[in-house]
Amino acid sequence: MLAAVSRHFAETARWTGLGKPDPRVLEAMRCIQRDRFVPVDQRAAAWEDRPLEIGSGQTISQPFVVALLAQLCDCVQGTRVLEIGTGCGYQAAVLAALGAEVWSIELEPELAREAALRLAGLRDLEGAPLRIHQRTGDDALGWPEAAPFARIVATAAPVLPPPCWLEQLAAPGRLIAPLGPVGGAQMLTVIDKDEDGRLEQSRVLPVRFVPLRH
Ligand code: SAH
Repeated sequence: MLAAVSRHFAETARWTGLGKPDPRVLEAMRCIQRDRFVPVDQRAAAWEDRPLEIGSGQTISQPFVVALLAQLCDCVQGTRVLEIGTGCGYQAAVLAALGAEVWSIELEPELAREAALRLAGLRDLEGAPLRIHQRTGDDALGWPEAAPFARIVATAAPVLPPPCWLEQLAAPGRLIAPLGPVGGAQMLTVIDKDEDGRLEQSRVLPVRFVPLRH
């Protein structure tokens, strides 16, 4: 799986400007067992570089995409990250394994409950317990009590980023989100906020995520 992720980085370098994955990101993905995060009947495919069904009509992202988001997050110990769309919890686990403290919101109670069970007891690259806070519900308000966040990562696609995401983004900070209409083409987009609150948007790669629902 990690070899396929590295190949995919090379193939998309023209778009992303990133030739290869950060070794720390690969180490985090080696440490977090992806087969723990998929339903039993999908386990045999868990180490392939593709998205899989996880129930409730949702998916676990393709490993390459998980690595790309983690790399764009560029987390160090204690980086505060808001994740929209916990799903099975795999992306949150990879970010937390890199040392991030993650606040993750999921709309589907059943997925959130299963993610909490999977995440319990996991450890980061330093051997410390993962720091992941979960909330079930619509992301519509973000997580104001824990804001500001140095990073906000969306794993479900809105047409445009909701204003509360940008409000809850620290200065400096970085928002990473697939943007695009339901059923249409999406663009993985990075919005950087500088110390003065100015925003700069860059397009990273055409992608396909599930839509953000309300
Ligand atoms: N992060 C996951 C991928 C999750 S797929 C991984 O690691 O693989 C996107 C998730 O976003 C789905 O589980 C979906 O239920 C959730 N979602 C969609 N709209 C949402 C909303 N408005 N608020 C919170 N979660 C939402």
